[in-house]
Amino acid sequence: MMQSDKTPIRTRMAPSPTGDMHVASMATLLKNYAFAKRHQGQFILRIEDTDKVREVEDGVNKIQSIIKQYGLDWDEGPGKDGACGPYIQSQRLEIYQEKAKELVEQGQAYYCFCSKERLDEVRQQQQASHQPPRYDGHCRHLAQAEIEKRLAAGENYVIRLKVPENQEISFTDLLRGKITFNSNQVDDQVLLKSDGYPTYHLAVVVDDHLMKITHVMRGEEWISSTPKHILLYRAFNWSQPIFAHFPLFLNPDGKGKMSKRKGTVSAQSFLDKGYLPEAVLNFLMILGWAAKDQKEIMSLAEYIQEFDPADLSMNSVIFDIHKLDWLNGIYIRNLSREELKKRLQNFIPPEFPLDKLDQILDLVYERLVTLADFSELTDFFYKEIDYSPTLLLKKAENQEDLVLEQIQLTKNIFHSLADFTTLELEKEIRILQEKQAWQKAQYFMMLRIAMTGKTATPPLFETIDALGRELASQRLDLATKKIKNHEKTEDNSL
Ligand code: GLU
Repeated sequence: MMQSDKTPIRTRMAPSPTGDMHVASMATLLKNYAFAKRHQGQFILRIEDTDKVREVEDGVNKIQSIIKQYGLDWDEGPGKDGACGPYIQSQRLEIYQEKAKELVEQGQAYYCFCSKERLDEVRQQQQASHQPPRYDGHCRHLAQAEIEKRLAAGENYVIRLKVPENQEISFTDLLRGKITFNSNQVDDQVLLKSDGYPTYHLAVVVDDHLMKITHVMRGEEWISSTPKHILLYRAFNWSQPIFAHFPLFLNPDGKGKMSKRKGTVSAQSFLDKGYLPEAVLNFLMILGWAAKDQKEIMSLAEYIQEFDPADLSMNSVIFDIHKLDWLNGIYIRNLSREELKKRLQNFIPPEFPLDKLDQILDLVYERLVTLADFSELTDFFYKEIDYSPTLLLKKAENQEDLVLEQIQLTKNIFHSLADFTTLELEKEIRILQEKQAWQKAQYFMMLRIAMTGKTATPPLFETIDALGRELASQRLDLATKKIKNHEKTEDNSL
């Protein structure tokens, strides 16, 4: 490879603003970022916005915002000028046009005037005779005089690469070793479109060269494009960067490339679901890679010290969402109380009684897998509850009178307690249960259901305390009503 030890390492991420960034792209970005930082190099962000049809509104801003939300940044790129700007391809059109024409002058590329209709016809014929679709070279050998005449007449044209016949194209992938193609497999691809925009292939090679990128590290789906890029490096007589192609992420069920159909895929949607960015990053670090001491929980700084793309497994990796859940829980519980409250802000519904936030947080925070769980785990504190009366009668079937008595006596305690506190509640309610010789499991489950409508909740006495005397009493009234209505419907069905 033509990199000398002194060449500063420069990596890049080159997203297209065609939709929300995929979490696999965030993983690629993280690796490029960490590798550059590890070697005191630079990480460049370049926006590849040459496909104006697929571009989404605000796409360029969204890319920048999601990278920052994950706590990452770039050394050169939009808003951070280095010596190689601009870093948005639509602002570099003249450069690509000039480079494409340079190739034409050197006989490495040619003007093609074929109409869409003609190209369609060629494709159909190839399909009919089961040949792979490719350009048939019609304009490859036009006479110079004809080319000039047609250009002067203002005919539409594209510029195509003149792919040499039967040449070996190979490169050494950092993960996969030597990969070889034959140039006969490569089409005379379009470099410059008729609207003056470059194709991805031309723009990516020109920019990676002009931006002095030393390592092109991207997803495995780009391997088949690499021979096209290598042919371009050769045509320009430029040295090739080092290539690495990272493995795909598979769906959590292990089947197929990670896709929207099977769950969350965009980097943004993980944050919206209440995953902490640092937990997702940690998870992305250990997908298909392990630290020397096998530790799984690591900070960005620790990762930067160790990460080497050559250590990556080249097998596809399953996006194991359970592992992410586990990591997220750990990161949540490592936050200070103040920080946790700050992060929860967007996940707390407007009806939530903020004066009780600390008290309620104490009860549920051990059980938070994501920040979004907070509202589901706590909704009974501020929302009306509903449940089936049969739940109240569990282990006390046909004993409506017993349950009604339990509710009444419990209510008496709620009313008579001087201090409505966890301690007092627990003391008096336990005395009551023992005195009445009520079956413990039955009574406490009934009370849990009456208070929350759920079978699994935070500790019962703390929960009643947090509900407060008034709401807790109202919940007992609701339970009474439910049992009485239940009795009535039972009678009617006799
Ligand atoms: N613009 C391409 C993308 O959207 C970049 C591919 C590459 O890294 O070469 O992913």
